[in-house]
Amino acid sequence: MPDDRMNSYRSGPDDRGRFGIFGGRFVSETLMPLILDLERHYEIAKTDPTFWAEMDHLWTHYVGRPSPLYLAERITAHLGGAKVYMKRDELNHTGAHKINNVLGQIILARRMGKTRIIAETGAGQHGVATATVCAKFGLRCVVYMGATDVERQAPNVFRMKLLGAEVVPVTSGRGTLKDAMNDALRDWVTNVRDTFYCIGTVAGPHPYPAMVRDFQAIIGKETRVQMQAAEGRLPDTLVAAIGGGSNAMGLFHPFLDDPGVRIIGVEAGGHGVDDRMEHCASLSGGRPGVLHGNRTYLLQDADGQILEGHSISAGLDYPGIGPEHAWLHDVGRAEYVSVTDAEALEAFQLCCRLEGIIPALEPSHALAHVMKVAPGLPRDHLIVMNMCGRGDKDIFTVARHLDVDIRV
Ligand SMILES: *Cc1c(COP(=O)(O)O)cnc(C)c1O
Repeated sequence: MPDDRMNSYRSGPDDRGRFGIFGGRFVSETLMPLILDLERHYEIAKTDPTFWAEMDHLWTHYVGRPSPLYLAERITAHLGGAKVYMKRDELNHTGAHKINNVLGQIILARRMGKTRIIAETGAGQHGVATATVCAKFGLRCVVYMGATDVERQAPNVFRMKLLGAEVVPVTSGRGTLKDAMNDALRDWVTNVRDTFYCIGTVAGPHPYPAMVRDFQAIIGKETRVQMQAAEGRLPDTLVAAIGGGSNAMGLFHPFLDDPGVRIIGVEAGGHGVDDRMEHCASLSGGRPGVLHGNRTYLLQDADGQILEGHSISAGLDYPGIGPEHAWLHDVGRAEYVSVTDAEALEAFQLCCRLEGIIPALEPSHALAHVMKVAPGLPRDHLIVMNMCGRGDKDIFTVARHLDVDIRV
């Protein structure tokens, strides 16, 4: 049962920003006024119809929403069980779901009178979405990126620069996403007056996890309406890949209070979830701790040091998971499983050949889990998987794993 005070799975977080024991606001004294100011402005915006009217307009004309709900007929026939629908968020401008959220935060930033946007990025997808919307509104954009990631993700670094953003390589620590987040927070405290910090997933201190979820919930809201139109009822199972958890939370949240809808989050199992820790499955293979201003499940060693993890998909290698997922896991409303690199690669290829859709490696994890469960389910069982990104960015990684040389 839901928390008896709230009687709903959808009413969190509480007024301290907590989902059960997860979430909250673990930040320094200097950051607190900034976070409170952001919360105050978001609270006003989220019940203001003119805010959502502006979002709707840009979702339609700039992003290309609503994204289709597509019945994958050949995959369905191939698996021989449940009907497999794909929510096509890879068709959004910039090729993934990230822009749904970036647009919301930047419209909020403009309302707050901010002229400079900062972000941190790992694989570069959130950096590109942020640079895109900043260009559209003529805002300064500074993206912090671990020095190691700057090298690994050269095409996205170039995209951000083309879009007019400044990319700052971070050399502290191991030079990856975790270090970039710390530098972005430092920048925010130093440039309070004109700067807005745009976070790319359902993580960070309250109100970010709830705010990002509210912006991504457009995915699930559209899915409800589209499934009613297609089948006259709600779906039976939802499946989505999890890095920090924003595309998954966006699909899941509007269905949390529908007990007939089974909800499954798919983490990146890398080379397998065991004590070698060569995976990014924070829930299946991690422990609770505090990172980036909130309490959640994290990949950590015996001494509490945050681990880097491994996944074939750079977009899934965040060492934590959004606090609302940690809570949904502990109360049992959602299930969390993991899929290995090899299984994701298999799903990637199947999707290309059977549906003519080159998926990103992240949603290939979701599809790989669908491939495991669909064959055992009846033909009238309705599955929706979130096709949260397109795979053009991943073809070089896939070629390397398939031992194909595509240098030009
Ligand atoms: C960034 C990204 C992810 C992981 O982020 P979530 O917050 O878990 O959604 C997944 N898929 C794609 C295509 C991405 O770009």
